[in-house]
Amino acid sequence: MVKAVVGANWGDEGKGKITDMLAQDADIVVRFQGGANAGHTIKNKYGKFALHSLPSGVFYDHTTSVIGNGVALNIPIFFKEIQSIISKNVPMPKIMISDRAQMVMPYHIKFDEYEEERLKGAAFGSTKSGIAPFYSDKFAKTGFQVNELFDEKTLKEKIGRVIVQKNVLLEHLYHKPLIDQEELFATLMEYKKMVEPYVGDVSAFLGQALKDGKTILLEGQLGTLKDTDHGIYPMVTSSNTIAAYGAVGAGIPPYEIREIITVCKAYSSAVGGGAFVSEIFGAEAEELRNRGGDGGEYGATTGRPRRVGWFDCVASKYGCRLQGTTDVAFTVLDVLEYLDEIPVCVGYDIDGEVTTEFPVTWKLEKAKPVLKKLPGWKSDIRGIKNYEDLPENCRRYVEFVEEQIGYPITMISNGPAREDIIYRKSPLKQ
Ligand code: GDP
Repeated sequence: MVKAVVGANWGDEGKGKITDMLAQDADIVVRFQGGANAGHTIKNKYGKFALHSLPSGVFYDHTTSVIGNGVALNIPIFFKEIQSIISKNVPMPKIMISDRAQMVMPYHIKFDEYEEERLKGAAFGSTKSGIAPFYSDKFAKTGFQVNELFDEKTLKEKIGRVIVQKNVLLEHLYHKPLIDQEELFATLMEYKKMVEPYVGDVSAFLGQALKDGKTILLEGQLGTLKDTDHGIYPMVTSSNTIAAYGAVGAGIPPYEIREIITVCKAYSSAVGGGAFVSEIFGAEAEELRNRGGDGGEYGATTGRPRRVGWFDCVASKYGCRLQGTTDVAFTVLDVLEYLDEIPVCVGYDIDGEVTTEFPVTWKLEKAKPVLKKLPGWKSDIRGIKNYEDLPENCRRYVEFVEEQIGYPITMISNGPAREDIIYRKSPLKQ
């Protein structure tokens, strides 16, 4: 059976922690989209880790960590990450990389940088990991799959063809150094040495695993609002972040995905540009940012301060619907303990009309939050294991959010560690 762990919002909802926790009972953890442009922060017995491309199952010796074909694979970063966990005494993980995964090329990263530089103020706030140029090339059919490293003659010829167009842009649009065919080929041969032991036919492997009754966890990156199609286009990422894409990006039948655990954070945060209706500013934001997550809301990849805001029921209801949520994991609830009253965004006011349906981008830009204040609970909830033991106002907060979004909150995370989890019976789940 296949379970997916995905995000309802802009990412950074705490998927890493939930995946790490659920991976205890999984045989295989698969990354199916995205690249090293966003990070997961995981805290466990080995220490605290920011993973960008390794699946969150790498800390267990019973799981196989898989890079699906949908991923933007940055080979040097991937291997640097393996080295970094091994150096902290994590046993060498079992890894399989899809022979159909495509590689982030050194020039993708350069093009990302150059384009942001060219756009200046109108830039997307890219993490400059090469993700947009990578996916553009994938769909323009000028990308490189991992398996192409093993057909050297054809590879060299293809590099020659692909760089013609790249070099025109480098010379005339960006005025930057050109790509050299031989040098790029040599770099790819280095990549080949690194990946060779791990490359395999992932969809065949997963197909067999399903026949054998194994449990597979799909690990999503970012969240619904960053999905290329369903997110806040164009301030989105360049891959589909919804669970449905797990079938494509891992190569499994869609009907095998039985559980979709959508992670929602108890307040909002976002990185990069784009409309963010429930965003807060000034001292109020500073306080939430510094108290947020585990040690503050700062990007795991870039260290950038994240934009923060109140919980957004409109965005989260939409986020959960598009994911096909069977369970909501409601995270980082412990952080809100300092507030006397907790505002929650329950609607969007767009030109005087209030809606609870998440709109298209140009309307979203005009939306103003309709806030409702709920009473705070003013006590530390870390360490609590049973839902009934949470303060009454804290339970009210959870139940109010559940009612607004319409999906069952069955897990509540009250701390960054694996054990900080409260399971709950939801009236919305049979
Ligand atoms: P992801 O990209 O969705 O995995 O999210 P991140 O890892 O970037 O951000 C989540 C942050 O919150 C990390 O620093 C986690 O250690 C932390 N975290 C996760 N769950 C909880 C929680 O329930 N409480 C607190 N205080 N921190 C949490």
